[in-house]
Amino acid sequence: MTHQHVCVLGSTGSIGENTLDVIARHPETISIYALSAHSRIERLAEQAQATRAKVVIVPTEAARAQFEHAWTVAQPRPEIRVGAQALADTAADAAVTTVMAAIVGAAGLPSALAAAKAGKRVLLANKEALVAAGGLFMRAVRDNGAELLPIDSEHNAIFQCLPHTHDRAKAPTQPAKGVRRLLLTASGGPFRTTALHLLPGVTPDQACAHPNWSMGRKISVDSATMLNKGLEVIEAHWLFAMPVNRIQVVIHPQSMVHSMVEYEDGSILAQLGQPDMRTPIAYGLGFPERIDSGVGLLALTALGRLDFEEPNLERFPCLKLSFDALKTSQAACVALNAANEIAVDCFLKQQIRYTEIACIIEDSLNRITGMPTPGLDSLDEVLALDAHTRSIAAELCLLKG
Ligand code: NAD
Ligand code: MG
Repeated sequence: MTHQHVCVLGSTGSIGENTLDVIARHPETISIYALSAHSRIERLAEQAQATRAKVVIVPTEAARAQFEHAWTVAQPRPEIRVGAQALADTAADAAVTTVMAAIVGAAGLPSALAAAKAGKRVLLANKEALVAAGGLFMRAVRDNGAELLPIDSEHNAIFQCLPHTHDRAKAPTQPAKGVRRLLLTASGGPFRTTALHLLPGVTPDQACAHPNWSMGRKISVDSATMLNKGLEVIEAHWLFAMPVNRIQVVIHPQSMVHSMVEYEDGSILAQLGQPDMRTPIAYGLGFPERIDSGVGLLALTALGRLDFEEPNLERFPCLKLSFDALKTSQAACVALNAANEIAVDCFLKQQIRYTEIACIIEDSLNRITGMPTPGLDSLDEVLALDAHTRSIAAELCLLKG
């Protein structure tokens, strides 16, 4: 394996921390070049000290001052870069071989796209980038000789189960030969069996208490509503060039089967493992080799059984909204994601109820899909529609709140 110099975008988040954990196990082959954080700047300083990062990226001049203040050791301080443009520039930096795109939300799109355009190995955790700009992103990977390794556990599982062609990290333009369907597993989240009449009263902490995975708060709420699975259906469509009618969602409460590929001959290949993001992260870093992730064995006999069930769309209206958005248009996918980001943020701040998240998304989608929208073949057009939908969704949240 040639030595990798990694830029971790969103290093203080759940994926970011797991990425640093895996990289620390491979000092002879992987080093950290840059780290970024939007908040928790003291934690960023600790990470930069431990990893000897050359560069850090912070959002504002105030955060730069905070970082300088937090740097109390004799070790030379990394170069501090400031602002959103610095994220994209560092992702494209000639010193970087590999970019972990682990910023949450559409805010991560410009830097992930910059990494693809610069022909890097892109480890993509930020699913919102593909939901908002799948076509644009996949074209950037193909046209610039980048490598795309999906980190989202389901897509990583599917990637592992697909035929091992030499160009599989190069953004395919058609479904892999012999594949009938992709089967995305979903845990069903913390409210899989909660009585429907109790859902309007659930709290942010209850929604974030995922039964199997420890994740950031936004994706935890998305997992509870299953909007996360909806985003993943759209993500799978783009990553694997798969038509929407050949992607199926299956509830699997144990979260040990991370997803499956069904072949024309009736075979189903599955990838299993502990629900620990260090496995897909290590796969992306090591590809095409396998490297240590620090994840323990999956004790199948202790587990005893694996269950599978059909998702109930009455319980999970966000899943239906996502399938509909993918069938409607790219504009609908941009709007779905943007409205969700606003609605989840308002829910986390206790300004709207849990069950209102789906209403805000649906009403925003109705407003957007009724309007003429641009072709969305540039980043600027995508970001403009994203911003416009956010203002609509924010207004709708105010009316509910
Ligand atoms: P998190 O909230 O724990 O971390 C987010 C990171 O992004 C932090 O470092 C934060 O400082 C930074 N950030 C937040 N807003 C930003 C902004 N506007 N500009 C720049 N940086 C910003 O999130 P997470 O759970 O690590 O998820 C990160 C991404 O990975 C998300 O897109 C999520 O959907 C995806 N993902 C996460 C998991 C998981 O297990 N956590 C699994 C699959 C996919
Ligand atoms: Mg996932």
